[in-house]
Amino acid sequence: MKKTLLKLGVACLLLGVTSMVNAQEKAAKLHTYVMEHPYEVQQILPPKGKKVKNVILMIGDGMSLMHVYSAWTANRGKLFLDNAQAIGLSKTYCADKLITDSGAGGTAMAIGQKTKYHSVGVDVNGNPQPSLITLAKQKGMSAGVAVTCRLWDATPADFCCHDVDRDNEYGIIADYVECDADYVVGGGAEKFVNRPDGRDIFKELEAKGYQVARSWEECQALEGGRIFAVTEPRDTPLPAERGDRLAASALKGMDIMDKNKKGFFMMIEGSQLDDYGHFNDLDLLMQETHDFDRTVGKVFEWAAKDGETLVIVTADHETGGLTLVDGDLSKGEIQCRFSTTSHSGVMVPVYAFGPGAENFTGMYENSDIFHKIVKLLKLNK
Ligand SMILES: [Zn+2]
Repeated sequence: MKKTLLKLGVACLLLGVTSMVNAQEKAAKLHTYVMEHPYEVQQILPPKGKKVKNVILMIGDGMSLMHVYSAWTANRGKLFLDNAQAIGLSKTYCADKLITDSGAGGTAMAIGQKTKYHSVGVDVNGNPQPSLITLAKQKGMSAGVAVTCRLWDATPADFCCHDVDRDNEYGIIADYVECDADYVVGGGAEKFVNRPDGRDIFKELEAKGYQVARSWEECQALEGGRIFAVTEPRDTPLPAERGDRLAASALKGMDIMDKNKKGFFMMIEGSQLDDYGHFNDLDLLMQETHDFDRTVGKVFEWAAKDGETLVIVTADHETGGLTLVDGDLSKGEIQCRFSTTSHSGVMVPVYAFGPGAENFTGMYENSDIFHKIVKLLKLNK
């Protein structure tokens, strides 16, 4: 009996050791990133007033706390995001799936309802719903979008278009003609013209009173009015090549729309955090996260000076299952593993800065972000 137990013990031990080795072999590849040139981060004090005239919603696509903490470590323990006054947690699951995509994740924030996976701007029954952009416009406010991706991609589409299938790219692009946003900057020119339906969306936008810019330089030269800038055939260039384009396009829109006495709503997206999470490319992921953080810094600075602008920074879901497993804060070195090339299920952070920021503390549904904004801007009255 004793012998049998002993044999069983040895067998279990061996099995345990082998499974540990297997698990280690299977554990995802270790990625190391060192940030050679950290950037300076200034303290930005929130304004003292209470009035919320403008709301800016910034979405880091696929950005979890792990992305933020990794980026913070790489930049030697500082980020512009640290200036946020209030922090909350958003639950990202969608109507028919635990792990959402950017279609359903962004739509929940855009229309205030959880919807089905892969849907943009429609409810669970596929009915188009007014987004924060539509509601702001109906109140006489201005509204805009600045992203670094193709405009048929899910996040901008969540706010401007309506489709049960985010892959219906030509249909989604055509929806921009009816969106009524005052300022749109993104990529994706190849699906505005030479379309299967023969439509020229650029011409249709011009007929609606937009000044259409086909490059970033053309967009920069425009000084006011309604602007629709589609600067690339697909996505904008890599973060290192495009410089501070996201921040510049955001600030340009804010300056122009700020002329509206009734205020404005704007959605700004760090679009490609998600792509680099899918590729498990830590280097590009950190570059994109830092670009997004520097954009957050510029937007916070603008909002601090303005005094009546609330800025919310959040994500639609996590991408890559990023885990920081080791690193060195003083050297800006991070060692990370990814657990998936898809999205993962975790609450995402919500940072708020400016008047009304206190409304964003606590834990809530992603769709509540819409309702909080609607209440603060009195869009329902
Ligand atoms: Zn994704």
